[in-house]
Amino acid sequence: MGAPVPDVAPLSTDVWRERARTYADERVRPVAESIDRDDSLPDAVVHGLRAPGFFGLGVPAEQGGSGGDTRAVAAVLEELSAASAAVGVLLSVHLSVCTHPILQHGSAAQRERFVRPLAAGQWLGAFALTEPGVGSDAAHLTTRYGRSAAGFVLNGSKMFITNGTRADVVLAFASREPGTGARGISAFLLEKGTPGVGNAQKLEKLGLRGSETNELVLQDAQVPEANLLGTEGKGLTIALGALTAGRVGIAACALGVARSAFDALREGAVAQPSDGHRSEVARAFTTLSAARALVERAAAEKDAGRPYVEAASAAKLFASHAAVSIASSAVDVAGSAGVRSGAAPERLLRDARVFPIVEGTTEIQELILGRTLVGR
Ligand SMILES: Cc1cc2nc3c(=O)[nH]c(=O)nc-3n(C[C@H](O)[C@H](O)[C@H](O)COP(=O)(O)OP(=O)(O)OC[C@H]3O[C@@H](n4cnc5c(N)ncnc54)[C@H](O)[C@@H]3O)c2cc1C
Repeated sequence: MGAPVPDVAPLSTDVWRERARTYADERVRPVAESIDRDDSLPDAVVHGLRAPGFFGLGVPAEQGGSGGDTRAVAAVLEELSAASAAVGVLLSVHLSVCTHPILQHGSAAQRERFVRPLAAGQWLGAFALTEPGVGSDAAHLTTRYGRSAAGFVLNGSKMFITNGTRADVVLAFASREPGTGARGISAFLLEKGTPGVGNAQKLEKLGLRGSETNELVLQDAQVPEANLLGTEGKGLTIALGALTAGRVGIAACALGVARSAFDALREGAVAQPSDGHRSEVARAFTTLSAARALVERAAAEKDAGRPYVEAASAAKLFASHAAVSIASSAVDVAGSAGVRSGAAPERLLRDARVFPIVEGTTEIQELILGRTLVGR
């Protein structure tokens, strides 16, 4: 028997946004610069996300979550990322590409075992698809799995894994027979302490510093039968579905960075008004508004239960480039001060520059959109 479900009305998106803004102002913004400088997220900031219920967003109360739809998730990710992109990305990965896919594809036993602690923030989630030589072309994974008496044995290496060493459960993908393409790929839930699972190297990055990115090495990793997510051969479908949802989350994170960059840009223009600076602000305002509209549309389409692949790709494509272009304008308007290490425009530009790559590059979004709109 689970705990009794509290009979409370769901919170509106505005209430979630306000909750996240308060947390960002009080707990994240004051340490945002040091998160970037030290490339480290204080435990207090991560654990503090529990009490407001952020780790359980999008998970129904019956499963131990805090409810909230995709619009609420996007609002929270935007607010947190406007203060520190590292915090937004940690939560986006935990929710969109780990907790929610387990909720969607897991058995009742898996939902009980994994979703409850994830939604409570007792556990942190991660997603491991990318490999040292395999990124965009996910159908050609080289990480291999075979059967064992107790379940499965995995061997291979996973690269650029967000929340790497912190994660308590990793949704990881491997192929039964590399070369068999999509049909051979299955999804596994790797728990912390699984024999044969190790974190190899921490990867230093241009931006999103403080968001941990690691290589994960699987050496005869022993995964019990009960930790297969979905059925064998369904792994790529699970991964691609998670990534579509993840794109809405990453687009919301990019929107948060774009908004902070816009604030920095406007501040610079107000300090040194000129026609050129006014034009920069006007262009950035339009770009930011368009990015917001695309993120809201993608979230609304998902919440309405309509196909949202195209909306998610458009939002991710546009919002990530909006963040780069507005942060770049903020650097221009600030002049030399804008490129000094630790200056807000400089940090925002480095953070922004990572968004066009994560969860599907720009070219991959164009490919998805082109195929959806034109056909193959
Ligand atoms: C900070 C960060 C965090 C990340 N977190 C995670 C994570 O948690 N889990 C995870 O699994 N992965 C993660 N990744 C990996 C990320 O999703 C991949 O880097 C991304 O999918 C691109 O793969 P790649 O780096 O191998 O580039 P490649 O796929 O090698 O692409 C290189 C270039 O070629 C282009 N290209 C590739 N294929 C095509 C094509 N068919 N048509 C046109 N152009 C093409 C790409 O657009 C890109 O410009 C993370 C990456 C970063 C930087």
